Amino acid sequence: MDGGMQAPPPIPPDTGSGCHGGRETMLAAAKAAGKGETLERLIADYPRGPHDQPQSMCPAFGSLRVGLRMRRVATILSGSACCVYGLTFTSRFYGARRSVGYVPFNSETLVRGQLYEDIRAAVYETAKPADYDAVVIINLCVPTASGVPLDLLPKQIDGVRIIGIDVPGFGVPTHAEAKDVLAGAMLRAARAEAEAGPVARPRGPKSDLPTVALIGELFPADPMSIGGLLAPMGLAVAPSIPAREWRDLYGALDCDVAAAVHPFYIASVREFEAAGRPVVGSGPVGVEGTDAWLTAVGRAAGLPGSRIDAARDACLPALRGVLAGNRIDARITVSGYEGSELLVARLLIEAGADVPYVGTACPRTAWNEADRAWLADRGTHVQFRASLEQDLAAMQEVKPDLAIGTTPVVQKAKERGIPAVYFTNIMSSRPLFGIPGAAALASSIAAQTRGRERFARMVSFFGTAPEAAPAPAVAAPPVPINSLADSMGS
Ligand code: SF4
Repeated sequence: MDGGMQAPPPIPPDTGSGCHGGRETMLAAAKAAGKGETLERLIADYPRGPHDQPQSMCPAFGSLRVGLRMRRVATILSGSACCVYGLTFTSRFYGARRSVGYVPFNSETLVRGQLYEDIRAAVYETAKPADYDAVVIINLCVPTASGVPLDLLPKQIDGVRIIGIDVPGFGVPTHAEAKDVLAGAMLRAARAEAEAGPVARPRGPKSDLPTVALIGELFPADPMSIGGLLAPMGLAVAPSIPAREWRDLYGALDCDVAAAVHPFYIASVREFEAAGRPVVGSGPVGVEGTDAWLTAVGRAAGLPGSRIDAARDACLPALRGVLAGNRIDARITVSGYEGSELLVARLLIEAGADVPYVGTACPRTAWNEADRAWLADRGTHVQFRASLEQDLAAMQEVKPDLAIGTTPVVQKAKERGIPAVYFTNIMSSRPLFGIPGAAALASSIAAQTRGRERFARMVSFFGTAPEAAPAPAVAAPPVPINSLADSMGS
């Protein structure tokens, strides 16, 4: 079931083995240490872009967050102390109230293979069925590059699943995609269990209706409003992925259609397809997006046109009314790393905004292709794997009335007197889909852009901030939409 490991080759001391250096050396070390297949899978699932290393938070935070948000799941990190400090700090900042396990190492335990034995001991100590359904162990950069073989851990201990994943910054480009690394690994294990015999039902009342599993971390009200859109077709919403509980994984896999609302869940989609479930992309944003998405879902579920029309007729007139009542007369740039940037841009354009640029840290996939084409038809430049430099250049060239972006983009915009709000706050604090999404997002952005004259007056009163100065009070947003730096979401 499990066994010892070969002593991995030591990582040369001059690799600069952090987020911004030594990537090729780390890759070569990982391959030499037996992680070649794992890295090939990661690079195929999450192809890299113009920037090779994270320009936002450590990618592993995505996996950590998914683990920490699940009931009866313990999460253990294996990595350098500085990385673990940063990740646990960030998890607290984002509201985690759970302990994070940590298996420390030094060059001696790493080189001699003792780290694997320490991880194994920690997993056995943690895997108590009274406490947990699963234990997640995450290899960060150095243990991955050193070939610490989590695949040799037992698959279960007293019924507690052991999920070991490698999430190195030199193999997974964004924390968004790292969510998929863990979600996909859990789905794979759950699918194997479901194929082997009966499994537990998800909590709550069981619907007899065919279901749609939503893939992506959504605002809590979004699955409910999407359920309302689907109801006239006779469809219900299945548990979402990433799941909140192990048994929800079975419920999600038991769906009739999987909806890749966030388009970067490549490993998760692979599991739904292996389970024989059709997958649709994009999401129900605005009138045209909702129309196309309901049609795609209805067809994938094998429903007659009359049922699809019933769902469309039930929501599209109201959506038109909401968007007509919240017009946005402004030029806006959008950049972020959540994976929903294209959907947000679609909704803004339907509300009347001019959106010449959308930058996303996530890659182009089959599941955002319809959104990319829709935006391109309207003259929007969509930059996948956008670097910070590309986002800044676009913002400076376009000189938008409002920049929706990441922390450094927002900072730069404010220095130039351009109103700006954090993308992640927009996503985390309001719905995006269906009628609630149109009402909440369009109305709040409309309010932001109405405040631009007030912002310009403030900038002219206080003067332009010097380039290197810390963010001054004048850099506060015109209305209280962004209360914390890139808070929540993520
Ligand atoms: S684990 Fe994260 S923080 Fe640590 S070096 Fe890798 S990418 Fe950077």
